Amino acid sequence: MRRSAGPATLYIVIPCYNEEAVLPITSRLFVDKIASLVDQGKVSPLSRILFVNDGSSDATWELIHSLCQRDERCLGISLSRNRGHQNALLAGLMEARGRCDLTISIDCDGQDDINAMDQMIDAYLDGCDVVYGVRSDRSTDSFFKRESAQAFYRLMRALGADVVYNHADYRLLSSRVLDSLAQYREVNLFLRGMIPLVGFHSTSVYYVRHERLAGKSHYPLKKMVSFAVDGITSLSTKPLRIISILGFLVFLASVLAIVWAFAARAAGVTVPGWASTMVVVSLFGGVQLLCLGVIGEYVGKTYMETKRRPRFIVAERTEYDRAESAERDRSDSAGSTSPDDADAPGESTP
Ligand code: UDP
Ligand code: MG
Repeated sequence: MRRSAGPATLYIVIPCYNEEAVLPITSRLFVDKIASLVDQGKVSPLSRILFVNDGSSDATWELIHSLCQRDERCLGISLSRNRGHQNALLAGLMEARGRCDLTISIDCDGQDDINAMDQMIDAYLDGCDVVYGVRSDRSTDSFFKRESAQAFYRLMRALGADVVYNHADYRLLSSRVLDSLAQYREVNLFLRGMIPLVGFHSTSVYYVRHERLAGKSHYPLKKMVSFAVDGITSLSTKPLRIISILGFLVFLASVLAIVWAFAARAAGVTVPGWASTMVVVSLFGGVQLLCLGVIGEYVGKTYMETKRRPRFIVAERTEYDRAESAERDRSDSAGSTSPDDADAPGESTP
């Protein structure tokens, strides 16, 4: 069903961790995008860009702060420490909740095509509550990144985590999805697997993934693997089922082995089989340790969930201060002209 009442308020939510290299470039693109969406009447002039500083150790927060002081379309929150991409994103979504009609989350490195937002909003206006941004092409990723990401999605699916293929965290969510998401209290966050669980009407928008405009990825192989394990264990108990089946098969095999051993003993053809004994013992030892590891992973997750620790703590907020800006303008016009004047609110950014 098509939505009709006036233009909706959009919040673009952008997690940023040590992004001082790329933020000055991409923040302009985001500001331009929101300006053009407002001009086209697709979203309301109250729409904002919400930057989430995920405990960066470089000048990211200072950059966000000065951006917000120059442009009323920008807002910022800063987490008390680095909590990881998923928690930072959730912090931004929960901050936006109640203030807007829809959010679009996107990484701040310029890899995801911001022009796909137009189609996302069209889909929202057509009545969709969730719009997934899906990469149609990964040719700009390195061979290794591409292959490891494909393996990641395949493994996730095989182990029972329902994820949208080639979709990361570039997505549109309506306010009612945000309200529903707020009811999911889990500490082990894997948003791209949780959103399909929330439900509602969804669709996908396809775009070509670019290279990072500057800076470097925070997801090397080690983090990707731990992210995949988190994703699987937070969404599915299928690995535990696989272990049970494996255990059953091993049990059957051992029953056969026992029968065979007795039969061989009775027939008097027992062999001095050191090698075969070693193989069986190490195989079963390995299987048991693997199973214990998987079970341990779930026990650990349960332990963390029972603590009910906060998923993020917002330490600081920043937004455009009209009085401070007027004061700054006054002192600027009294003295020399600052280069920041070009970005004053109301003026279009180049
Ligand atoms: N990010 C974050 N906290 C972290 C790591 C990353 O908020 O601990 C942000 C980062 O600034 C970027 C997004 O998450 O906006 C995706 O990170 P990145 O581009 O490094 O991942 P990749 O695209 O290589 O998978
Ligand atoms: Mg990236």
